[in-house]
Amino acid sequence: MDKKVKIGLAAASACCLAASNMIKAASYVPEKKESSPFEDERVDVERYTKNLSDAIKIKTISNIDESKVDWSAFEELHKLFEERYPLLHKTLSVETVGKASLMYKWEGKNPELEPIALLGHQDVVPVSESTQGDWEHDPFGGEIADGYLWGRGAIDMKNHVIGVLESVETLIEDGFEPERTVYLLFGHNEEIVAAKDSGAHRMAKLLESRGVRLDSVLDEGGAILPVKVKGIINKNLAGIGIAEKGYCDFEVSIPAKGGHSSAPPNHTALGELADVIKDIEGHQFKSEITSIVDGILERVGRNTSFLARNILCNTKALKPLIKVIMKNIPAAASFVRTTTAVTMAQGSPAANVLPQKAAVTVNFRIMPGMKIADIEKHLHKVIRNKNAEIKLLGGNEPSNISPTDSRAFKAIEDICYRMNNDNVVAPYLVMGGTDARNYQDICDNIYRYSPFLMDTKLLLTTHGTNERIETASFKDGIAFFKRYIKTLAG
Ligand SMILES: [Zn+2]
Repeated sequence: MDKKVKIGLAAASACCLAASNMIKAASYVPEKKESSPFEDERVDVERYTKNLSDAIKIKTISNIDESKVDWSAFEELHKLFEERYPLLHKTLSVETVGKASLMYKWEGKNPELEPIALLGHQDVVPVSESTQGDWEHDPFGGEIADGYLWGRGAIDMKNHVIGVLESVETLIEDGFEPERTVYLLFGHNEEIVAAKDSGAHRMAKLLESRGVRLDSVLDEGGAILPVKVKGIINKNLAGIGIAEKGYCDFEVSIPAKGGHSSAPPNHTALGELADVIKDIEGHQFKSEITSIVDGILERVGRNTSFLARNILCNTKALKPLIKVIMKNIPAAASFVRTTTAVTMAQGSPAANVLPQKAAVTVNFRIMPGMKIADIEKHLHKVIRNKNAEIKLLGGNEPSNISPTDSRAFKAIEDICYRMNNDNVVAPYLVMGGTDARNYQDICDNIYRYSPFLMDTKLLLTTHGTNERIETASFKDGIAFFKRYIKTLAG
């Protein structure tokens, strides 16, 4: 074919594609929201603020070594729950499970219906001594300043736990009686990833032994964040976690003879290990635009300006390009592939001693659909040094993927839209672990979402310095829980 014809054809097809995109983009608009906005929900923000502030003052720090946990702090927190939420404690039954997990049961009028569960964890991570001085306010002071409530647990996740308690207390005051049984399940060691027998695991097993199957579970994980790009989008994106990545650590080591460093071989065990690291890092897992990423692009795309919509509505054709872009931005890459991070290294114990063993620890965050066994196979395949020893140190498989057409997902979506026309709901993949995965055997509809509006800057203070929450987000957060319970259990 003549070159000019070729160019002409290419131009024509590009024009056709552009035209078809325009047509598509014109019809590709935000879904119509038929439902009306909510009437104002009664919320006691003042009581909530005081209770959250006081809860933050109690140092419920978990530790992998249970003998190092101050259990009296958990007792104190339980006492605070009892004192501040008297109606709830009169109406609901409560059991302590394991060391300090709490299982509340609000009996529904109709025992035939499957119960719903709202999850949370009472524990927080410690504040490392070296960063203590960087805090603008005491991390365990529960101080309110500059429009924020400051302290460890302000967003992870005493805000959520107190929010659930607050909403139930208010619902009882309002005279609400649930049709469906409602469980409030608050673990005590969610932050200990490697905990063999977590409070959440025990509670799930206890429910299972009693023959309970849950209709739905709501836990932390997703958040609601403003997405503002001038001229393109000005919305709040509510990411509802429908799955969470798995986690595992492998040790890869090279054995060697050791000896005195004055007579070394060309490559010590550490030197050989350097090639092993290159093999691992040089063979990243394949990236893939999953249905979750597709869902986010589609939902966000629908709410952008016409020009941006013209691009985003055509994700199918753009998939290869989107994949390349996402793969090269670390934060985005974690959405499209199992990630590999070589995190720890070990050689000999002294500068003048040859290592008898050199080892690295590699941390993987596993995409749903993949298994820890696949990671092990991958390591055996890509590491060329056949002396390398590969050992699994521990981990959790990725979660199942919850459906987006369930009653619970639709309820979350509907509540978000009706609370604010500028909210956009999208399914989301949670990078860290949550207690929710423990309930997979007794529930198919597991969602991870915390309804307090925050920005990325605040979100990054999770487990970090100056953890804090905007007090302006309290009212809608509590109202969300009230509406969620009324919709799903009413
Ligand atoms: Zn948490």
